[in-house]
Amino acid sequence: LSSELLLGIDIGTSGIRGVIVEKAPNTNPAPAPLASASVSMPFPHRQGPNSEQTADLWVQTLNQLFDALSETGYFPHVTRMALDATSSTVLLGSRQRQAWTQALMYDDKRATEAAERIRQLAPSDTAAHGASSTLAKVMWLEKHALNGRQPHEAVIFHQLDWVNAYLTGRCGITDENNALKLGYDPIHQAWPNWLNDLTGLPLPEVVPPGTPIGGILPDVASRYGFNPELTVYSGTTDSIAAFLASGASEIGDAVTSLGSTIALKLLSDKPVFAPEYGIYSHRLWNQWLVGGASNAGGAVLLKHFPLETLKTLIPRLQTDKPTGLDYYPLASPGERFPINDPTLAPQIDPRPDSDERFLQGLLEGLVEIEALGYARLHELGGPEAKRIFTTGGGIQNDAWMTLRQQRFDGEIIPMKNADAALGVTHLLQADDNKPHGD
Ligand code: ADP
Repeated sequence: LSSELLLGIDIGTSGIRGVIVEKAPNTNPAPAPLASASVSMPFPHRQGPNSEQTADLWVQTLNQLFDALSETGYFPHVTRMALDATSSTVLLGSRQRQAWTQALMYDDKRATEAAERIRQLAPSDTAAHGASSTLAKVMWLEKHALNGRQPHEAVIFHQLDWVNAYLTGRCGITDENNALKLGYDPIHQAWPNWLNDLTGLPLPEVVPPGTPIGGILPDVASRYGFNPELTVYSGTTDSIAAFLASGASEIGDAVTSLGSTIALKLLSDKPVFAPEYGIYSHRLWNQWLVGGASNAGGAVLLKHFPLETLKTLIPRLQTDKPTGLDYYPLASPGERFPINDPTLAPQIDPRPDSDERFLQGLLEGLVEIEALGYARLHELGGPEAKRIFTTGGGIQNDAWMTLRQQRFDGEIIPMKNADAALGVTHLLQADDNKPHGD
């Protein structure tokens, strides 16, 4: 092997996936993986608003992945690795890496009281608002789960921090992207003072994604045959890793996720914070990743047509003949972005006799929402979207894709398999922590 190898690992919602690629900093698109493997993970234990998991499970599953990947024989050549994990999954533990609490998962919503205190004391433009924020969760854990242990002795572990601590032995360090929902201020690159009024827990040291954080521990290295010189780098959140996987790397590059809801992400030279629209910005290299999400999306189509009906209607649409129906197709009342109106009613009247025309009206409405979304991000200080990479189940809807192509000036690029594990290796490619091709 002529070059060094990189290992990227995605700790997703249903499993852990790893890929090995060559280090090839100036190749665009990024090189294809030499090897990959996935291991599924049980769902979190869910009950009412609670969703939790034992942190040990992540390490066990990761070890299974290492077992599978070590058989490829590449491990001795891997010099760098980085991981991403679900954002706002968090637990408290000791500096000796003992878990003191269960992990509250990304979708846990029990911390409503903490969210109310945050609403009263924190500025509106922090990403730490809401019962699912990392801050609300650690406040809940601090109050209800420490069982008499001292808050000032606890370590906050994001899911990713826990796994990185297993690999390197290093505790109390995290990355700027995971830290955002804990209240980190990415503009000043510091923890704001108002956090001290909300929690007595020590806040972790924060480094940019793609920063060396430690060498692999000798026992882990020898067990799986890793190069003892392997360095673990700080990672990012799963959704940012998925963004990186698209190949987006330049200002004006965007990723639209056509899922049950439509989510937009745009690479910008300036941060945009507009809490009324739920818009935050992550620092990524010397650029900013601006995101916003509508409540409208593919789910509204499935509300009106079963998937099988949808599939037979899609090829029959006359996408070159606009319906002029001017819908705002929400599945239920209320919208945040690109229009901030918690009472906004779905606008899907009048319904034409033809199912084809009705479906086309819904799709045209969804395309307008996406277009309005990018226009809003631009109006608030972001760049114009020039290339729109596209992910999610909606890329299987040819009519939706055609209508988008007609509506947008920029290039639309469907991404059939955006692989977050591959995306996170982009953090390792360049020696100066910038995206290759940038
Ligand atoms: P989620 O965001 O819940 O993961 P998906 O990305 O799986 O949702 O799907 C998003 C939307 O894509 C669905 O609501 C549906 O409108 C559409 N979709 C999914 N599969 C297909 C398909 N085979 N053909 C056409 N449309 C599809």
